[in-house]
Amino acid sequence: MVTIKNASAVANMKLAGEVTYNALAAVKEAVRPGVSTWELDEIAYETIIKAGAIPSFKGYGGFPGTICASIDGEVVHGIPKKKRILKEGQIISIDCGAIVNGYHGDSAFTVPVGQVDDEVYKLIKRTEESFWYAIKFAKDGARLHDVSAAVQRYVEQFGYGVVRELCGHGIGREMHEDPEVPNYGTPGTGMRLREGMTIAVEPMITLGDRAVYQHDDGWTVSTKDGKPASHYEHTILITKNDPIILTIPEGKEGISA
Ligand code: MG
Ligand code: MG
Repeated sequence: MVTIKNASAVANMKLAGEVTYNALAAVKEAVRPGVSTWELDEIAYETIIKAGAIPSFKGYGGFPGTICASIDGEVVHGIPKKKRILKEGQIISIDCGAIVNGYHGDSAFTVPVGQVDDEVYKLIKRTEESFWYAIKFAKDGARLHDVSAAVQRYVEQFGYGVVRELCGHGIGREMHEDPEVPNYGTPGTGMRLREGMTIAVEPMITLGDRAVYQHDDGWTVSTKDGKPASHYEHTILITKNDPIILTIPEGKEGISA
């Protein structure tokens, strides 16, 4: 069921979005060679708890972390580990969510660890750009797959792959609500977007082939060819005009590589 959020729900989602943003910003500050994904997880956890919020990933379906930390060819859902130490030249995707007053925020970014190859850096930046391009199509009266198709159109011009097995989603009292928000599709199809809908738009883009597999840990999803993948996500509110980004506090810049 797709829910339309009233002003009070939106206000709470902004609060959840701000906590999520602050946790991600703190993690981004800490990304460097030598740090473990476990340490990054603790930073996010502390930030969320100190804000009086709830880390939404922790315990979700049994997931052990506050963040998903996915390195290089890992697309999403990497489990934070003490022995997983970042190395120069890698890229890391961090996904995080928080709950305030029963409402969710969900956001993700990918950044380099130190210096990375130019083609990998471009993959990250163009994944971010695909989000900003696509959400221009996310407004009251538009069709959902106008947004999906825009992500696909933007990244496929560079020969990148769009992961099909995972997609964005409605969000609100639950982290994952209807509708599913794919990163590919046919313009003019899908449900009609309405003011007050809140969705997480999250391109998951591969440098090589788009095929992925799930690890034996039951969580981590990686590219089959081992080539890098990038992820970028915000929770947005549909309006009659451009959407409002709920996971970027007013007056702040979006987290970017
Ligand atoms: Mg997420
Ligand atoms: Mg999400």
